[in-house]
Amino acid sequence: MTPVIALVGRPNVGKSTLFNRLTRTRDALVADFPGLTRDRKYGQANLAGREFIVVDTGGINGDEEGIDAKMADQSLLAIEEADAVLFMVDARAGLMVADQAIAEHLRKQQKKVFLVANKVDGLDGDVAVAEFYALALGDIYQIAASQGRGINILIEEALAHVEVAGAEDEEEFSDADPFVNGELLPEEEENEQTAEDYARLPIKLAMIGCPNVGKSTLVNRILGEERVVVYDMPGTTRDSIYIPMERNGRNYMLIDTAGVRRRKNINEVVEKFSIVKALQAIDDANVVLMIFDARVGVTSQDLTLLGFAINSGRSIVIAINKWDGLDAGVKDRIKSELDRRLGFIDFARIHFISALHGTGVGNLFESITEAFDSSTKRVSTSMLTRIVRMAVDDHQPPMYAGRRVKLRYAHAGGYNPPLIVVHGNQVTKLSDSYRRYLINYFRRSLKIMGTPIKVEFRDSD
Ligand code: GDP
Ligand code: GDP
Repeated sequence: MTPVIALVGRPNVGKSTLFNRLTRTRDALVADFPGLTRDRKYGQANLAGREFIVVDTGGINGDEEGIDAKMADQSLLAIEEADAVLFMVDARAGLMVADQAIAEHLRKQQKKVFLVANKVDGLDGDVAVAEFYALALGDIYQIAASQGRGINILIEEALAHVEVAGAEDEEEFSDADPFVNGELLPEEEENEQTAEDYARLPIKLAMIGCPNVGKSTLVNRILGEERVVVYDMPGTTRDSIYIPMERNGRNYMLIDTAGVRRRKNINEVVEKFSIVKALQAIDDANVVLMIFDARVGVTSQDLTLLGFAINSGRSIVIAINKWDGLDAGVKDRIKSELDRRLGFIDFARIHFISALHGTGVGNLFESITEAFDSSTKRVSTSMLTRIVRMAVDDHQPPMYAGRRVKLRYAHAGGYNPPLIVVHGNQVTKLSDSYRRYLINYFRRSLKIMGTPIKVEFRDSD
């Protein structure tokens, strides 16, 4: 599971600054789900080769009257979903009453808290942070988020804590429900798998979409039975349910992000939608099934989720659900809006389905297996080199600095998603448009659908 780190603190301590710095390396993709998450922001971060999810819990105004209420709902949920909490304080402002109020609440939670004193730039750090020991939260990490100082060590220690905790959890819960958290999954050593191994492995399929698009209905339809929708399962709201299934001789592992709807009490179902859950499911999946509601259209939330999937290099199939009972004019209008808003993702197949009636659901699986097979396809160097030569014959690369760019050969550099390495003279100087042309040429020649193709260029001179 991709680790989750939450940033907590009163306004102005530097949470956004740290958030932006952590997510910058991969374009900050900020999920802003009105009504669901208030001012929480989610981003994918990558530091020293480790991937994790950062959540900016937004300003918790500790000196406000209603801190109990405020902490209790959305921010609390964000903390509950996190593996580690970075509690940020402002070394310049010094210790505030609000910090104490927040610390009090954090102490009550069974969460690992890292106390982080920000803005130590230009200060004598040890002196400036001394007063924060009064919070009784242990070590104090000194950082300057705006300068990038102290961040690597902080994150390394936070992630190390997550790993240790994760290892303990595994032992402790080994008897837990096998469908939770993918315990049924076989061991994976991705780089050493052959095509045959891939054919035997279940295709991990994440069912992703905003609340009410029809995820549960679709899962039930696929499984062909009415499943109970309100679960009272071990784990938290962030757990997805893993359901093994077989269809036409292929094995799948459905990752059902709508499945866990834990009840707090008889009447109250804890927020069933969780961004963390969606992001972790995307990270763990081979193929992401993005589900949209035809009647709602493509929302910015949809695009954010899709952005996460694309950013993670996942294979993607798009399902436009609730395609039943719409008249032809409405369908045309929806289709043209989709063309406009989803034009940027040219590799994914789009299906129009009705989860309620089952229309089009079978065909989805053709695209899902196609996407998976495409992402794990083995292609020889000679084949790739032949394709490069054909591409060049059809359309010569432009000159660069008075010399023709020369493409020599290509080989596979990785799978899932497929990576093709193209060698030649000055190939790193190729224009974006020629790169796109090549990628499309590879896609057509290799019949790769549903998965992004990455192409890397290496100069041989
Ligand atoms: P948030 O409300 O907690 O998200 O805080 P912001 O990230 O918006 O930062 C509040 C202010 O503190 C901004 O003016 C930042 O430029 C400033 N700031 C953030 N990090 C640092 C730092 O490391 N050093 C200094 N001197 N200022 C910082
Ligand atoms: P989830 O929150 O994504 O799991 O969505 P649900 O599966 O709970 O569905 C939300 C609502 O949309 C329910 O009232 C469903 O009956 C309805 N719904 C789901 N799929 C369809 C469909 O294909 N057509 C129509 N008309 N309604 C649907």
